Amino acid sequence: MTSTTGRSLRDLANVPVTALRHVGPARAAALGELGVTSIFDLLSFYPRRYIDRTRRADVGALTVGEEAAVVGVVRTVRARRTSHGRSLVEVDVVDGAELLRVVFFNQAWRERQLVVGTQILVYGRLEDYRGRHQMTNPVVDVIVGVDGTTRDPTRVGRVVALYPSSETSRLTSWEVGGYVDEALRRSGALADPVPRALRESLGLIDRTAAYLALHRPAALDDVEPARRRLAFDEFLRLQLVLARRRRRMVAASSGVAHVVDPTDLDVAPGASGGSLLRRFLSGHRFTLTGAQRRVLSEVLADLARPSPMQRLLQGDVGSGKTVVAVSALLVAVDGRRQGAFLAPTEVLAEQHAASLRHDLATLRVADPRVLEGERPLSIAVLTGSVATRARAEVLAGLAAATVDIVVGTHALFQEDVRFAALGVVVIDEQHRFGVDQRAELTTRGRERSEEGRDPDVLVMTATPIPRTAAMVTFGDLDRSVLDEMPAGRQPVVTRWLDSDRDSACWERVRSEVAAGRRAFVVCPLVEGSPRVIAASAVSERDRLAGSELAGLRVGLLHGQMKSIEKERVMDAFREGALDVLVATVVIEVGVDIPEASVIVIEDAWRFGLAQLHQLRGRVGRARDRGYCFLLGAAPSDDARARLQALVDSHDGFALAEIDLDLRGEGTLLGARQRGRSDLRVASLRRDEDLLSAARDAAVSLVEDPDVVEEMVGELRLLAEPSEVAFLFQG
Ligand code: ADP
Ligand code: MG
Repeated sequence: MTSTTGRSLRDLANVPVTALRHVGPARAAALGELGVTSIFDLLSFYPRRYIDRTRRADVGALTVGEEAAVVGVVRTVRARRTSHGRSLVEVDVVDGAELLRVVFFNQAWRERQLVVGTQILVYGRLEDYRGRHQMTNPVVDVIVGVDGTTRDPTRVGRVVALYPSSETSRLTSWEVGGYVDEALRRSGALADPVPRALRESLGLIDRTAAYLALHRPAALDDVEPARRRLAFDEFLRLQLVLARRRRRMVAASSGVAHVVDPTDLDVAPGASGGSLLRRFLSGHRFTLTGAQRRVLSEVLADLARPSPMQRLLQGDVGSGKTVVAVSALLVAVDGRRQGAFLAPTEVLAEQHAASLRHDLATLRVADPRVLEGERPLSIAVLTGSVATRARAEVLAGLAAATVDIVVGTHALFQEDVRFAALGVVVIDEQHRFGVDQRAELTTRGRERSEEGRDPDVLVMTATPIPRTAAMVTFGDLDRSVLDEMPAGRQPVVTRWLDSDRDSACWERVRSEVAAGRRAFVVCPLVEGSPRVIAASAVSERDRLAGSELAGLRVGLLHGQMKSIEKERVMDAFREGALDVLVATVVIEVGVDIPEASVIVIEDAWRFGLAQLHQLRGRVGRARDRGYCFLLGAAPSDDARARLQALVDSHDGFALAEIDLDLRGEGTLLGARQRGRSDLRVASLRRDEDLLSAARDAAVSLVEDPDVVEEMVGELRLLAEPSEVAFLFQG
C-alpha cells in the first residue's frame, strides 16, 4: 500500500520558501539564485558533502602532498596584487593551535566572502611554501558565517551537511542547513508513493527517513541508505514515464502482424525459392554469426506480433547490423508492404542503396498488376539533393507501391512523402537523429501510410550505450545486442603519435597503398561555417598531396560538395581509382569500403571517444589488418585519457563506459545528452541494481494511477524544460 498519510512532496512545491521563519525577500532571492524557490526545491537541494566533526583531520596531522579537508576559523584576510598584476587573497585559517595559509589567485571576491570569524571548510592539496603549510585555490565551504554562530547552537551535531553555494548566492551552508531543518520539522512526515512491501523487499528506507538522514545524518553511515532510497526514486520516476509511454503506445497502436517463417534463418546457402528473406539469406556470401541469428529471430518474433516493433539494435562498428536491417525490410516486402531505411547522411544513404541494389539484384516480388505477375524488387533513394523530377517519381512510386524499399535521409520526413503501405522502418545510426525524430517517425508513420497501420520500427546504433544508460535513455524500447564480430576480424592496430614529425603513419599509408589497399585521412575538426570547414579540408588535401602523400592519388570529401560529386568520389575510392581519401567527419558513420586498411586521424584529441571508435571502425572491415593512427599531442588529462583508452581497447562497450566516466554522467535525457544532471544522487555505475529494480517495479506500478501521478508529477518539477519536452512528448 502506498502511504497516503503525510505531506506529498508535490504539495511542498506550492509552498514558497518565504514560509520559513527567517526567509524574507532578500534571502528568498538568494535562494532563488540557487534554483530554490519552494520547500520542494529546498528538500531536493542535496548536501555536497559532510564533515564528521569527531573524525576530521587537523592541520598538524597532515603531510604535504596529501589532499584533505580542514575545518577552521578565518583569522586574517589580506588582498593584494601580485607583481604580475593578478589578484591574490591570503587567508589564515586556524584550527586549534595550528595555522593554515590559504591563498586564492584571481578570486578577489573571497575577501568579501571570508570575513574574519567565519568558520569554513577548505578542501585541497597541502603544500609547503617556505616552510609553512598552505593550500592554493582550494574548494571552500562556508560552514557558519560570523553572525550565524549563535543562532541555533542545538544544530551543531556530530555530522554537518555542507550545501553547494555559489559566489553570488551570499548564503552560507549553515544558513541553508537551518532552512532545511525548519522545513523538515514543520512539514512533518512525508507521504511515500512507493508501497511498503516493495520498499521492504528492496531494503529501502521510507521517504521521511531518507530526507531526514540525507540532510541531517546522525552519523556518516546514515547517509548511504538515504542516498540509495532517493536514487531509487530518481530511477523509478523515469522508468514510470517510459512504462507509461509504452503502455499508451501499445494501447493506441494498430500494427501489422507480418507473416514470418522462423525456419528461414536456417536456410542452406545456395538453396532456391521461398520467401524473399529466404532467398536473400541463401544467396548471401557468408553465413550469419550466432549473434546475427539470435537478433534476427528476436526481430522476426516482433514482426509477427500485431503490436508494432519498437526495438533498439546495438552492435559495434562492423558487427553486421545491415543484414539484420535488410532482413526486416524484406519481411515487409514479402507481405506486399514497403520498407523505409533511414540513414543520417547522404553519403551513407547512397552507400546503403548501392549495396542493397547489389545484394537484392536477383530478387523478384509478386505484383498482380503486372503481366508476368512479378517484377524486380525496386529500391529508390530519397535525399535532399534528389532533383525535383526524380523526387516526384519516387513519391509517385511510394504512393503507388511500385517502390518496395526507399533509402533516404531526413528528406523522408517531409510532409508530402506518402506510402501505400509502410510496413517496416529502420533507422540506422540512430545517435545522429534527434530523439524527437524517432518519435516523429513512430507516431506519424501511420498517418503517412495509406494503409493506416503503425510501421514496425528498428533503431540501430553503433554507439555502444552502456546497458544502464540504455535503460534510462531507451527504456521504452526493447533491446537487442550484436555482441559477436564476423569471423576473421582482427583488431585494428591503433597507434597514437603525438609528435608532428613522426612519419610512421605516412609510411604505413604508402605501404598499404602499394599492397593494393586504401587509406582515409580525417581532417582536423575546425570550428566555423561549413564553408570554413570545407576550405580547411581542401587545403589539407593539397598539402598532403604535395608532401607526405606525393605521388599517390588523393581524393577529397567534405560536406560542401554537391552530392553528385560526393558520389563520384566515393565510387572512385570504392573502385580503387583513388588511393587516399582526405575527408571531414562525413565518413564517420557506416561507410563500408572493405579495401580500406588505414585511417589517419589528425588532431585526434578534438574528437570524442565514441566518434574516434566509429572512425576507427572504417578500416579493418575485411580480412586484412587495419591500422589507425591518432595524431597530435593531447592538451589535457582528459584528452590524453581518451586517446590512451582507444589505443588500449577495441571494445566499444568498454570505451563507452570509460567515456561515461570521463564525461561524467550528466543528463541522459536532454537531446544533447549533457547539461544539468537529472540524476542527482543516483549513479548509473554504482546503482545498477537499483536501476534494474526500478525498471521491474515500474512495470507493475504503472498500473497504479496514484503512484504514477505522484512520481511523474515530481519528475516534471525536477526536470529541465528541455527534458520535460522530451519526456512528455506524444
Ligand atoms: P555495421 O554493423 O557496422 O553496420 P555492416 O553491416 O556494414 O556493419 O557489416 C560490416 C561488414 O561485415 C560488411 O562488409 C558485411 O558485408 C560483413 N558481414 C556482415 N555479416 C557478416 C557475416 N556474418 N560474416 C562475414 N561478414 C559479414
Ligand atoms: Mg552500418
